[in-house]
Amino acid sequence: MSHAVLGCIADDFTGATDLANNLVRSGLRTVQINGVPQDNSKVDADALVIALKSRTIAPADAVAQSLQAYQWLKAQGVQQIYFKYCSTFDSTPQGNIGPVTDALLDAIHGPGQGFTIVCPAFPENHRTVFKGHLFVGDVLLSDSGMRHHPLTPMTDANLVRFMQAQTKRQIGLVQHSTVAQGPQAMRAAFAQLQAQGVGVAVVDAISNQDLMLMGQALQDMPLVTAGSGVAIGLPQNWPDRLQKGSSASQLPAASGHGAVISGSCSLATNAQVQHWVQSGRPALAIDPLALAAGQDLVAQALAWAKPLLAAGPVLVYATANAESVKAIQNTLGAQHAGELVERALSAVAQGLVQMGVGQLVVAGGETSGAVVQALGVERMVIGPQIDPGVPWTSVRTPAAPGRDVHVALKSGNFGGEDFFVKAFAMLETHP
Ligand code: ADP
Repeated sequence: MSHAVLGCIADDFTGATDLANNLVRSGLRTVQINGVPQDNSKVDADALVIALKSRTIAPADAVAQSLQAYQWLKAQGVQQIYFKYCSTFDSTPQGNIGPVTDALLDAIHGPGQGFTIVCPAFPENHRTVFKGHLFVGDVLLSDSGMRHHPLTPMTDANLVRFMQAQTKRQIGLVQHSTVAQGPQAMRAAFAQLQAQGVGVAVVDAISNQDLMLMGQALQDMPLVTAGSGVAIGLPQNWPDRLQKGSSASQLPAASGHGAVISGSCSLATNAQVQHWVQSGRPALAIDPLALAAGQDLVAQALAWAKPLLAAGPVLVYATANAESVKAIQNTLGAQHAGELVERALSAVAQGLVQMGVGQLVVAGGETSGAVVQALGVERMVIGPQIDPGVPWTSVRTPAAPGRDVHVALKSGNFGGEDFFVKAFAMLETHP
């Protein structure tokens, strides 16, 4: 039994598995815990990831939940706290990345004190930060599909400016030219910025090499805030904890039927849903307007799926393109539409698992949070990676007493076009 050295707070559930995946691949034994546990008994792991669903809730609630997670992690004896947000910096000018960062710094260092970084870079998934601007592939964040996100439309790629709008502290920048010089140069830049009154520095990173160098520079920083990418550089700071050989933990054999639940409206997920539908696999769309009109689409979806499951995986989705999402939001309001869809999709997921689904892919961060909460999943064991940022995990749920269920939580923007098909194919070859 060894207590964790790294304690992470993730603002959504797909983000948590993405982070846990990077930590496991870098050699740390990692346990993901959904929500803040009630008891303080020590967990045997090198890294702990607390998954919250705090990305789009009211800033005060996000702060309260994050502080609760921090207190629990502190009681576990961790040496460093990692606040994990999306690699597309999903937030609004009101929060929640800024307020949570401020609150954690206040709690760790005292009001207005301390210093941390901001770095959503995840180069393996084509998210890079250069001169303080976030790129998705070859375009600025604000030119990417994220500008149409249903809950957190991202229309400013300048992280210094955007973070400043959310934060009490002064925001600074450590440019790539400094990052490339290595840990010492970065530490000097942090000290210089702090002396100038900066509390939070956006740090450029365009490659895994940058992240490895940055990891060394962050060795003694009590709080790190970042996407999941920065996590690949941290485990090297605890050489005695690194696991040898295959880093992904072995999962129990997969069993049961397969299903995909998709509530993400990202460009990537739209393409994945289209790929599934065009390949002739069974798919059922959930119409938010029909939900709002009180139709029992959950019962209809379960009745539809029941006779199909034995023949192969089914897809139930609310995924829609930007234009139809806009139209629905104009009628129902963005928040209400999101909640209606999340509630319906999580009820479908629960029903499907009760009907014998044992391999469940969920697309969408908020959607994943809703599904995992509805399934009452407390812990997730991280397994092999399907695509960068998305591992299979194994969970226990009251919806499937006595059996392990494989769950993959896919952040909306992640995964290749054939992601859903690939996920199930992988379980056939890697039980
Ligand atoms: P992503 O990972 O792509 O951000 P999320 O699940 O986090 O996906 O967010 C998508 C949000 O959009 C969810 O709240 C979901 O319920 C909502 N949503 C899904 N389909 C629709 C739709 N057709 N119209 C309006 N909102 C939708």
